[in-house]
Amino acid sequence: MKKVLVVEDESSIRSFVVINLKRSGYEPIEAATGEQAFEQVRLNPDIKVAILDIMLPDTDGFEVCRRLRASHPKMGIIMLTARTQEMDKITGLMTGADDYVTKPFSPAELTARIDALYRRVGGDEEEVTELVRGPFKLNTRNRTLEKNGERIKLTQVEFSIIKLFMENPGKALSRDEILNAVWGKDYYGEVKIVDVNIRRLRLKIEDDPTNPTYITTVWGHGYKWGY
Ligand code: CA
Repeated sequence: MKKVLVVEDESSIRSFVVINLKRSGYEPIEAATGEQAFEQVRLNPDIKVAILDIMLPDTDGFEVCRRLRASHPKMGIIMLTARTQEMDKITGLMTGADDYVTKPFSPAELTARIDALYRRVGGDEEEVTELVRGPFKLNTRNRTLEKNGERIKLTQVEFSIIKLFMENPGKALSRDEILNAVWGKDYYGEVKIVDVNIRRLRLKIEDDPTNPTYITTVWGHGYKWGY
């Protein structure tokens, strides 16, 4: 299991993060204080990514970050920041952190950051080959897609499109971006091919293809993975 340390004293936010991590295939390890965080890291030496709140009852997230960084130089660390005023502090103090997420954040945003960090830090031991978004599970090694555990048959192009979407949740992608990423910059065909493939993909993955909720249209621009 891919363990992620969640250090947050506010139980409502911690539960929110924990539920979403579980849904995305991670095993969250919880801590409400700095001391609990260090204890959990001692008990779970295979934690590769930590999410740290800044305001903690016994210490602050920066101190936790410094100490974790000293003992675990390869751990991926994401800071959770509450207010934009903390930005300056972060810029100065974030030397040890890899990334930060500002509250309030969407589950998709946090999951995307964790996936990206895991890909970077987890490389030498276990390659991340699975992307989980809602009911979908994408395996990049076998190039397969499952929805609620059932395999969906995709063409290579359809697979590449959905992989691009699942790697960029919530981000509006233009037709040109999709064309460049999937067909390559040297493709001289019509951009309409994107729409044709997405129409077909929707027939395969949407609950109701006439009212798509996973791949949504961004008018005048392109498409967005809505989950
Ligand atoms: Ca807090």
